[in-house]
Amino acid sequence: MNADGWLERLRREGRIVVVGASLAGLRAAETLRDKGFAGSLTMIGDEPYEPYDRPPLSKQVLLGMSTADRTALPRRRALDATWRLGVPATGLDMAAKRVRLADGDEVPYDRLLIATGVRARPWPREAEAELDGVFVLRTRDDGAALARRLAEGPKRVFVIGAGFTGSEIASACRERGVAVTVAERGAAPLVGALGGVVGAVAGDLQRKHGVDLRCGVMVTSLEGDASGRVRAAHLSDGSTVETDVVVVSLGATRNTEWLAGSGLGAGPRGIACDAGCRAFDVRGIVTDDIFVAGDVARSPHALFGYQFLSLEHWGNAVSQARTAAHNMLSESTDRIPHMWVPAFWSSQFGVNIKSVGVPSLGTEIVISQGTLDDHRFIGVYGYQGRVIGAVAFDHARWLPFYQEQIETTAPFPPPFPTVDRRSDGQRPMDADFPDPSIPTHGPTVTLSGYSPADRRMTFTPAH
Ligand SMILES: Cc1cc2nc3c(=O)[nH]c(=O)nc-3n(C[C@H](O)[C@H](O)[C@H](O)COP(=O)(O)OP(=O)(O)OC[C@H]3O[C@@H](n4cnc5c(N)ncnc54)[C@H](O)[C@@H]3O)c2cc1C
Repeated sequence: MNADGWLERLRREGRIVVVGASLAGLRAAETLRDKGFAGSLTMIGDEPYEPYDRPPLSKQVLLGMSTADRTALPRRRALDATWRLGVPATGLDMAAKRVRLADGDEVPYDRLLIATGVRARPWPREAEAELDGVFVLRTRDDGAALARRLAEGPKRVFVIGAGFTGSEIASACRERGVAVTVAERGAAPLVGALGGVVGAVAGDLQRKHGVDLRCGVMVTSLEGDASGRVRAAHLSDGSTVETDVVVVSLGATRNTEWLAGSGLGAGPRGIACDAGCRAFDVRGIVTDDIFVAGDVARSPHALFGYQFLSLEHWGNAVSQARTAAHNMLSESTDRIPHMWVPAFWSSQFGVNIKSVGVPSLGTEIVISQGTLDDHRFIGVYGYQGRVIGAVAFDHARWLPFYQEQIETTAPFPPPFPTVDRRSDGQRPMDADFPDPSIPTHGPTVTLSGYSPADRRMTFTPAH
């Protein structure tokens, strides 16, 4: 059969299976139907819920403005799919084209989309992680349980890790009038994602809002009382913080274990795929029937020197899902690359933070508008003489402009004058990112693959 006939048959009566029934999985499924896919569609998800939205879990839900069960993702269209919810996929047989499920079923596919995302990294000491009052925040159930505990009015919440999620949790606690301590191994909150210059502003914000912020320390252990409830956290500087709620916010682990031994190029860093979302196998050869999207994917980006980017960004999941779905139903010449310019938002301590590009790739920063002191500014990140990222604190309307600068590889430092650039922003400064080999909290962008900026690389002279 010629290629066109083969594709027509796939569109008419093919079997597409999506593993991971969340944001990326849902948006991909909708796009498949939009594009006229009329075959069978199976959505496999280990959570018992239909797709829901995660960002509100650390914002509106913790603030008590909404409840975790009201976070369902809006549907763009009817799907006509078979939903297998509450049952994890446990294996993949690439040769037989079948997904194995925990209940023993096997689901055959002609095209497979993997969108299994990430899960919260737990507190590493198991017995301590199981103490009553110790939480993580990734799922709807996590959000509901933590919101319930906050509503009971704890004496103090102790947050481990000051990345975006940890900082948002601390912010919600303060807004509710709950005392909160944040412990961060790095020098400042958000330092892994935005560097030390901007991290200092984030730290200032936290302290001004009454957070007891402890940076440069590690939590060494959690202590429970006789009834198994957490009562204190012990820190590497010898101090102890009495607390009745601990939120472990140490970043995320990619959900790839179920693919072990399958032959797919999947591991702790995610599932490697090409710019068209096709998964690589362990030999580095691209597959033609297995696609990847969302937080679990690791894909090369033309704008960033074809380095592999793993992004834990809502917008990336949506965009990559659409690209994957398009490519699943296309001939190779009609496929499109995933070219989304990374973008992220967060709201904390009354400030709207947004970023575009990859700030963490930047080595220098210029404050091009506003001032750090006012907590209202734009920081532009430079890498090898070009603009590579930008972050806005309460200045988001300018970000599309900087996105264009990134897309056109505009020179750094920006040569143009800006309306409200002040004297402290004239000169580029060291963006002050921590040594990436020292773990802080989970970054929302992980770079992998060769780059001169990859400070993990060491070159050994040939003998
Ligand atoms: C609290 C919180 C706040 C956030 N805030 C922001 C924000 O402000 N801005 C922003 O840009 N992003 C934010 N994010 C990130 C954003 O929610 C994610 O980027 C997005 O959810 C990624 O979607 P996904 O579909 O790729 O993965 P996920 O949403 O992680 O979904 C993957 C799904 O697959 C399931 N799964 C895993 N393994 C299996 C298996 N073996 N079989 C079947 N199913 C499986 C998982 O349980 C999950 O339901 C936030 C995330 C959290 C947790």
